[in-house]
Amino acid sequence: MRGKNKLKHHLIIGLCLCLAMIVVLASYAAILQNELNQDTIDKLGEVSEQTIKGLNNKIDSEFALLQEIGNTISVQENFDPQVAVTELKKVAKRHSVKRMGIIMEDGSSYTTDNANPNLRDRQYFRESIAGKRYVSTRLMDKKSQDTVIVYSLPVYEGEDVCAVLFVAYDIEEIQKTMEVTAFGGEGYAYVVTRSGNVVIDSGSENGFPQFTNVFKSLRETSNDNQEAAEKLRKEILSGDTGYVSFFNNVEKYMYYEPLGVNNWYVLSVVPTGVMDSTRNFIMIITYVVISILVAVFLVLLFYIIRAENQKKKEMERVLYIDNVTGGYSYARFCKEAQKILRDSESKIAYISMDIDKFKIVNELYGYEEGNKTLRFVWKIWKECSRPGEIFARFAADRFVALWFYKEREELETRIAYFQELLQQGVQRKQAEYNLHTTLGIYLIKDKNEDIQKMMNYAIMAGATVKGREDKDHEFFDDDFKNKLLQKKSIEDQMKSALQHEEFIAYYQPKFDAISKEMVGAEALIRWKKKDGTMVMPGQFIPIAEQNGLIHKLDRYIFREVCRQQKEWLDEGKKIVPISVNLSQNNLYNLDFINEYKDVVTKVGLPPQYIQLELTESVFFENQQLLKQIIDRLHQFGFRILMDDFGTGYSSLLMLKSVPIDVLKLDKSFVDDFDDSRGEKIIKSVIRLAQSLEIEVTAEGVETQEQYHFLKNLGCDMVQGFYFAKPMSAEAFMSLMN
Ligand code: C2E
Ligand code: CA
Ligand code: CA
Repeated sequence: MRGKNKLKHHLIIGLCLCLAMIVVLASYAAILQNELNQDTIDKLGEVSEQTIKGLNNKIDSEFALLQEIGNTISVQENFDPQVAVTELKKVAKRHSVKRMGIIMEDGSSYTTDNANPNLRDRQYFRESIAGKRYVSTRLMDKKSQDTVIVYSLPVYEGEDVCAVLFVAYDIEEIQKTMEVTAFGGEGYAYVVTRSGNVVIDSGSENGFPQFTNVFKSLRETSNDNQEAAEKLRKEILSGDTGYVSFFNNVEKYMYYEPLGVNNWYVLSVVPTGVMDSTRNFIMIITYVVISILVAVFLVLLFYIIRAENQKKKEMERVLYIDNVTGGYSYARFCKEAQKILRDSESKIAYISMDIDKFKIVNELYGYEEGNKTLRFVWKIWKECSRPGEIFARFAADRFVALWFYKEREELETRIAYFQELLQQGVQRKQAEYNLHTTLGIYLIKDKNEDIQKMMNYAIMAGATVKGREDKDHEFFDDDFKNKLLQKKSIEDQMKSALQHEEFIAYYQPKFDAISKEMVGAEALIRWKKKDGTMVMPGQFIPIAEQNGLIHKLDRYIFREVCRQQKEWLDEGKKIVPISVNLSQNNLYNLDFINEYKDVVTKVGLPPQYIQLELTESVFFENQQLLKQIIDRLHQFGFRILMDDFGTGYSSLLMLKSVPIDVLKLDKSFVDDFDDSRGEKIIKSVIRLAQSLEIEVTAEGVETQEQYHFLKNLGCDMVQGFYFAKPMSAEAFMSLMN
C-alpha cells in the first residue's frame, strides 16, 4: 500500500516537472519572440536611419553636382540654352544620367538627349523657376515612359532666374540607395509624401502591388490594417517616428521616419518573422536541450521507480517467503490467517507441529540435511492441505497451519494421514532418519482471538505429547484446558502442602514368592489434603518432576521412611527393608548421595533397611555415570532396585554392566504372562538375572494365576494388589505383626 503511494508520488512529481518544463519552454519562447521582435524593430530603425542618411547623401551630392553645373552655365546676360546644353551633354556623358536639360520660362526644354519635351506642367519646374531647388516624386518620363526622379534648380541670368536646370535619373538609380541589406533581402523601403503618396517605390517584389498611396494600399491589402493605416496617417501628419505592424501576405513591421527632404517620409518594411529562423534555431536548440533533460529525468525517474519496486519486492520476498522451504513465512501466514479467520464460515483448527529432537538432527547430520528435512516436511504439509488452507514454518522445526473441519474425527483422520505420509517418506529415504512429529491442535472458538494466543494453545497441547510413544497429537479443548487449570492449581498448592506436611508415605508389602512371607515393602507417596481427600502420585509427581519440586518430595519421603523405620526399630518391632522411589531428576545433581547418607546416619538406621528404586529409563541414558552412582550408594550399604523393567529401551545386556541388586519386572510384563511371547521374555529375563545374581521382584501381581506363573518361573518376590495394596504406616505395622 505504502509502495503504491510512493509510485504515484513519483509519477506525479514526474508529470509536474514535465508540465513545469513545458510552461518554462512556452514562456521562454514568448520572451524570445518578444526580444527578437524588439530586435527587429531596433534594427529596422537603424535601417531607416541608414536609408535616410543614404538618400540625403545621394540628394546632396546630386544637388552639389547640379549646383556646380548650374554655376558654370549661369550667365550675367543673354542666357543661351543651346550653349548650356552643349555643356550639359559633356557632363551627362561622364555621369550615368538619363537626361539633363534646361527648361526655359515657357516650359520648353533643351535636353541632352534632344527629346526637348515641354515640361511646363512639372512640379519641379514650377518650384525651381520660382528659385528653389527641388527633388521630384517619381515621374513617368514623357519620352521613354520610364519612371524617373528629377532634381532641379534655377539658372540665373544676372540676379534673375532665367531657366531651370534639371537632371533625371532612372528610378533604379535612387532605389539602389534604398536597398535594405540588413534582413537578408526581406526588407525594403519606400519614400512617401506626408499624404502617403509614393515618392520612391522600393521596387521590391514583396511590396504593395500598384503602389500609389501607402494608406490606400494598407487599407486595401487587409481589413486588419485599418488601425495601422490610421495610426500611420496620424503619426506622419504630426511628423513622428515609430512603427506599425500590418499584413501583406504576412505580418510586417513598417518603420516610419521623416527624410528631411520635402517633408517626405521613409518607410522601412520587414516581415515580423524575419528573425524567425534565428528564433527557430534557438528554439530548436532549446527544445533539444530540454528534451534531453526531460529524457534524462524520465530515465532517472524510471530507474528510481524500478529500483523502488525491486526493493519493495525484495522486502516482500524477505518478509513473506520462508528462506528454507520457499513457502509462506510466518509473517505471511499471519497475514493470510487474518483474512481466513475474518472471511471463512467454516470451523477452523490452528495446528502446531514440531519435529522431536530436530536439534540433534541438525547437529548430527548438518544444517543442509536439516533443511532438506524441513523441506520434505513442508511438502507433506502441502500434500495434506485442502484448498484455502494455509501452513508455514514458524521457526526452527515448528510448522503452523490452519485447517478447516466439520468434526473433530475428521482432523484425527487427516493427522493420521499426515503421519503416514511422513513415515512413507522416511521409508523412501526422503529423510535420513526416523522422523517423529508431535502436533497440537487448537479448535478455534473465537475467531477474533489473538492469533499468537491460538498458537500458544496449540503448542501447549502439542508439548504434552512430546516424547510419548502412544500419542502424537493432542487437542486443546475444554478438557485439556481444565486439566491445565487443575495442574496449575496443584502446582500452586504443592509447595504449601510440603510445608504443612500433607505428604505421607504409604507402604506396599513385598512377599517372598515361595514362603509368601513379607520380606519388604515399597514406600509410595500420598498427598493427604487438609480436607481429607487423597491425591495419588500420578496426579502430582509428573508436575513435580517438571517444576523441580520432586527433589524435595523424594528427600521428604526418604527422611520420613528412615524416621519411621528407626521408630519401629526402637519400639522393638520387627522391620523389613523398605524401598524408596528416586526420581531420575535427582541424578542430574549428585548432592543427593551424601544427603541420603547423612539422613540415614543422623537417624541412626542401619542402611540395609532402606533401598532405592531407580526407573529403567535412566539406565538407558548414561550407564557410565549410573554405574558410578550405584557404586557409591553401594558403599553406604544401600541396595539398588531397577524399577519398571521392560517399559524402556534397556537391553538385557545392560544388566551386565550396571550393578543392580534387584530387578522389578513391570506390571505390563506381568499382565502379558499368558501370551507365549511374554512368557518367553519373562523366562529369559529371570534366567539372566539369576545368572547375574540379581533378584527379581514382580510388580502389579493381581491374580492367583499370575502369582503361580511367576513363582514357577523362579521369581524371587511378588508385589501387588493380590497380596496387599499400599497402606498407611499403622495398617502396614499391624499387618506385619
Ligand atoms: P511405581 O514405582 O511403579 O509404583 C507402583 C505403582 O503400582 C503404585 O502406584 C502402586 O499403587 C501400583 N500397584 C501396585 N500393585 C498393583 C497392582 O496389583 N495393580 C495395579 N493396578 N497397581 C498396582 P502409585 O502409588 O499410584 O504410584 C505411582 C507411581 O508414582 C509410582 O510407580 C512411582 O513411579 C511414583 N511414585 C510414588 N511415590 C513416589 C515417590 O516417593 N517418589 C517418586 N519419585 N516417585 C513416586
Ligand atoms: Ca517403584
Ligand atoms: Ca514400578
